Amino acid sequence: MFRSLLQLCFLCIALPAALTSAAASTDRPPNIVIIYADDLGYGDLGCYGHPTIRTPNLDRMAAEGMRFTQFYSAAEVCTPSRAALLTGRYPIRSGMCHDQVRVLRNNSTGGLPDVEVTLAEQLKEQGYRTACIGKWHLGVWSNDPKHHPMHHGFDVHFGLPHSNDMNPSAGNPKMANALAEQKAAYWNAPLYRGLKLVEQPADQTTLTRRYTEEAVKFITEGKDKPFFLYFPHTFPHTPLFASPEFKGRSARGLYGDVVEELDWSVGRVLDALRNQGLADNTLVIFSSDNGPWLLMGETGGCAGLLREGKGSTWEGGMRVPGLAWWPGKIKPSVCRDVACTMDLFTTCAKLGGAAIPQDRVVDGRDITPLLLGTGGVERDIFCYYRGQRLYAARVGVWKAHFITQPAYGPEKPVTHEVPELYNLEEDPGEIRNVAATHPDIITQIQTAVAKHRATVKAAPNQLEGTIAP
Ligand code: MG
Repeated sequence: MFRSLLQLCFLCIALPAALTSAAASTDRPPNIVIIYADDLGYGDLGCYGHPTIRTPNLDRMAAEGMRFTQFYSAAEVCTPSRAALLTGRYPIRSGMCHDQVRVLRNNSTGGLPDVEVTLAEQLKEQGYRTACIGKWHLGVWSNDPKHHPMHHGFDVHFGLPHSNDMNPSAGNPKMANALAEQKAAYWNAPLYRGLKLVEQPADQTTLTRRYTEEAVKFITEGKDKPFFLYFPHTFPHTPLFASPEFKGRSARGLYGDVVEELDWSVGRVLDALRNQGLADNTLVIFSSDNGPWLLMGETGGCAGLLREGKGSTWEGGMRVPGLAWWPGKIKPSVCRDVACTMDLFTTCAKLGGAAIPQDRVVDGRDITPLLLGTGGVERDIFCYYRGQRLYAARVGVWKAHFITQPAYGPEKPVTHEVPELYNLEEDPGEIRNVAATHPDIITQIQTAVAKHRATVKAAPNQLEGTIAP
């Protein structure tokens, strides 16, 4: 009897404590880390089949988590891709895409409009610490301070306002030569901490390492709050620079050196999460903003079996590596369903306890069922825009190209009276146009496109007035 009473007393004391502790761990929303490479192709990682670039950390992340085989960026170039990721919306809705200019440049005065709601703002409102470390490319704050990441929901910032090739130095020869030569003296990229310019030209050989140190510092400090780390790398966008520890190591040349250093960086971030005991409560995503810049030859990446690269609405321009890691929650697996960067907005906002804005169209789907292996996700359409124009659309396994055009160069867009049609699961390389035998599928896709178009109200264009080089 005495013993049972004692046990009961123990339970009365111990149970609430145990419940509180369980509640604390389940109530606390997950930390979110999004690592975004720049111009990394579908075929550039070991876990996506590259034969010589060594990416042991990303391969481990893929083996421990989920590797997507049909993961898309929502745009074919940098600026619109980032706008889509952070807002969950096709860039046409925010005015962050342009047929001719294509991306913001260092002379641009436009940027992500205030009315857009970013994932950082959503999570910050839920009590998250937020950081943007790396390349922004959603507005140049030296031209207008309201384009700074800290004006869009980020507490902490360290990095470049735009691509690393946008401040050619005086004496820089023709851009194409300069990109091929990869000489540090040709570039004058500004490195900022918050609004303060800390280095110009930035020593680009140290960028990946310094970004990584900042990211690890952000992860390890202030563990009392959940955090959102948005980590858009500068590389492997050309000009390419690797640190002395990585330069000359890869069989794939300088491009391989740079990707192997990015892989090292991912390893440091995952190690920091493991060492801090945060791995079980952190969702880490790795992806790329668009396909490989094939125009750059050996200093550009590779889209594997996919057609074309950066700048194009063929698969190689927009289908990118996509990895999701969350030990204990995401099972080691390969996901062959379609998912895209806009889904990260919706999924991460919901995981963080934020409501999805109801006063606008949000295109991203909540892919939590895919991540947790509990079900599928309904998706009517995936659109491939080039600038403000819809070039192609995917419905189920089928993709119709209404307009085609080489990624770069003077050739004008060709509008197809009968769209080209590909079955992306049978023919991921888009080699066999089967339009002639499937007119009914083309009609279905056209209906889905019409439905999509009815939801689009183009916003004031933010890239207008930008002077292309
Ligand atoms: Mg890019």
